[in-house]
Amino acid sequence: MSASTVSNLPAAKRQLFVTTALPYANGNFHIGHIMEYIQADTWVRAQRMQGHEVHFVCADDAHGAPIMIAAEKAGITPQQFVANIAAGRKPYLDGFHIGFDNWHSTDGPENHELAQQIYRDLKAAGFIATKTIEQFFDPEKSMFLPDRFIKGECPKCGAKDQYGDSCESCGAVYSPTEVKNPYSALSGATPVLKQSEHYFFKLSDPRCVEFLEKWTHDTGRLQPEVLNKIKEWFAKDEEGQGGLGDWDISRDAPYFGIEIPDAPGKYFYVWLDAPIGYLASLKNYLGKIGVDYNAYINNPKVEQYHFIGKDITYFA
Ligand SMILES: [Zn+2]
Repeated sequence: MSASTVSNLPAAKRQLFVTTALPYANGNFHIGHIMEYIQADTWVRAQRMQGHEVHFVCADDAHGAPIMIAAEKAGITPQQFVANIAAGRKPYLDGFHIGFDNWHSTDGPENHELAQQIYRDLKAAGFIATKTIEQFFDPEKSMFLPDRFIKGECPKCGAKDQYGDSCESCGAVYSPTEVKNPYSALSGATPVLKQSEHYFFKLSDPRCVEFLEKWTHDTGRLQPEVLNKIKEWFAKDEEGQGGLGDWDISRDAPYFGIEIPDAPGKYFYVWLDAPIGYLASLKNYLGKIGVDYNAYINNPKVEQYHFIGKDITYFA
């Protein structure tokens, strides 16, 4: 009897903001997406049955060179390409009874605004640096090539037509500049090395390292196995090398994405774009239901839960 007495007590109402991994908008859902959504949806329903308040949102990860290139091949704009993919989402979500409160896009105005504001705040706090790097450039297409669009012979085994980052024949992993006889998968032209100034988020800043070390080591936050893996990323060798490296957050035009403020021709690469899409979708949803976004996200009582593949520890 005591158990039923306890369960009849009104529990404190929790405020939960729940998200799942954003799918990249270059293809339809597959079973992996649906499995994750069902897990999250089940948990959300269980929380609501206990009387808690839940905002459950997701969005299409819309930006990047692969979508820009796929749209060009299809003869449509990247916006139209992403809209076509988004239009095909509903039958799958409805068919599996997955009840997101909101489905948005990282190309939505909220994401442009939030990404640029977060960048400005990071820059003002000294977390942004620039560095000139050398990358392969397609002289016919006049664009820098993502690793996956450079092909050539494997530097280890010599297999032909391998990608710029790994060999499907022998499994070797390498950098695009090591590929023999490289060519552009877009035009077939021989790529040339070209310098460009890139923007970096200073993950190596002692403030970031200290925060992340504390956050990951706090008791009970991570599984012991995961924490052991993560400790390797913080470790430095005897010469002080290694540890957390800075993140390249920029790409050069032409690019389908969000412009970096006060940096003409530069766009945010995924790290300062897609992860902010969760907040952008929440902001878009709260606008629809008449809740103030800033008040909600700054409320210390709001708990944020993110469902994602458990092996994705680096970025999660
Ligand atoms: Zn190989």
